[in-house]
Amino acid sequence: MEKIKMSTPLVEMDGDEMTRILWQMIKEELLLPYIDLNTEYYDLGLENRNATDDQVTVDSAHATLKYGVAVKCATITPNGARMQEYRLKEMWKSPNGTIRAILDGTVFRAPILVKGIVPYVKNWTKPITIARHAYGDVYKNTEIRVPGPGKAELVFTGADGTEVRETIHDFDGAGILQGIHNTEKSISSFARACFGYAVDTRQDLWFSTKDTISKKYDHTFKDIFQEIYDKEFRHKFEELGIEYFYTLIDDAVARVIRSEGGFIWACKNYDGDVMSDMVATAYGDLSMMTSVLVSPNGVYEYEAAHGTVQRHYYKYLKGEETSTNGIATIFAWTGALRKRGELDGNSGLQAFADKLERACIQTVEDGKMTKSLSLISSCENPVILNSLDFIRAIRATLEGLL
Ligand code: NAP
Ligand code: MG
Repeated sequence: MEKIKMSTPLVEMDGDEMTRILWQMIKEELLLPYIDLNTEYYDLGLENRNATDDQVTVDSAHATLKYGVAVKCATITPNGARMQEYRLKEMWKSPNGTIRAILDGTVFRAPILVKGIVPYVKNWTKPITIARHAYGDVYKNTEIRVPGPGKAELVFTGADGTEVRETIHDFDGAGILQGIHNTEKSISSFARACFGYAVDTRQDLWFSTKDTISKKYDHTFKDIFQEIYDKEFRHKFEELGIEYFYTLIDDAVARVIRSEGGFIWACKNYDGDVMSDMVATAYGDLSMMTSVLVSPNGVYEYEAAHGTVQRHYYKYLKGEETSTNGIATIFAWTGALRKRGELDGNSGLQAFADKLERACIQTVEDGKMTKSLSLISSCENPVILNSLDFIRAIRATLEGLL
């Protein structure tokens, strides 16, 4: 078979620890033998981020804006322990945070479904994609521990000096206070990314807030979504036969549980944080969650939802066998390759991505899997494979499909 050609480079962001090892295996076993891989490579491994004063992360994000599609390996977000382990010059910020800020993107997370791994919610036969607004609210709050009696006020001073003032509470004793904000710009970007991704993946979009209680704050989210939908997306939605549906967060929770899945659920920052963990757990396993960052102007960065799997990496370094599941990282590659293929009109690349995904699913459904999957699979006698042998088993399945 002749190798598939790529006309435009894919932005490749390498990462850390066990996922960096998987990254190499995936390229060698599943990509390079079949594709003339055209990537612009950025090493986001912590050592190189430290060596470049994190410039490499910024550069990789700008390259993504230039080319439109990136694939990213999981990366370490430094903490105190990592400062020592890697002798860091600084506690570099989360690469995902840096990239998200430059791309102004929204993260969409969806599970990969396979037969034999049944979600805790039995009627979820299709994936539920969670879109989390990743700016503001309680994540950028200002808090006061109120020491005793007094008056709390909310004050806004306009650039021209005009003042808006509201009483929050007249305290007759100790208490607590919190100030939060969001911006129309960020909410609009979030809305456009959500509507765009719904069109892109031809799925209904649900959005929920608590606008009945929060008549200005949450209601503004609802209004901005509705306005952008009516002006920019209603037409496309109707054409594709998909739906935009707004409901109260409590009603949404009830409907989601009773649903069969197959839609995107857009959530405010906190709701998305909580609901994405609930949905991921209910579908079975973190190693089967994909993640894509989508900017409001249609730039895509694909990755696995899990981290660098540090515990497995330390075993690997000691020469012990690991059984780390590479599927979500493979799906990051297939997502990016398919999107690159779509944008370039490269049907060979799109078909390859489809087949590689099918090979992953079929391999697990044939009973070959990694340890953590075998623990939640209903498969009778699963063959438990190590990290590399699992990828090789996927390759064997792929060979049959090509
Ligand atoms: P993690 O890497 O997601 O791993 C947590 C645990 O989940 C693992 O120890 C493992 O459980 C299981 N697991 C996750 N992915 C797996 C896979 N592919 N195959 C098999 N098991 C898997 O989270 P973490 O250990 O909390 O974080 C490690 C590093 O990743 C941190 O430095 C963090 O900053 C970074 N991180 C990066 C990203 C990102 O780049 N997007 C996201 C999250 C975390 P067992 O050990 O029980 O087998
Ligand atoms: Mg969380």
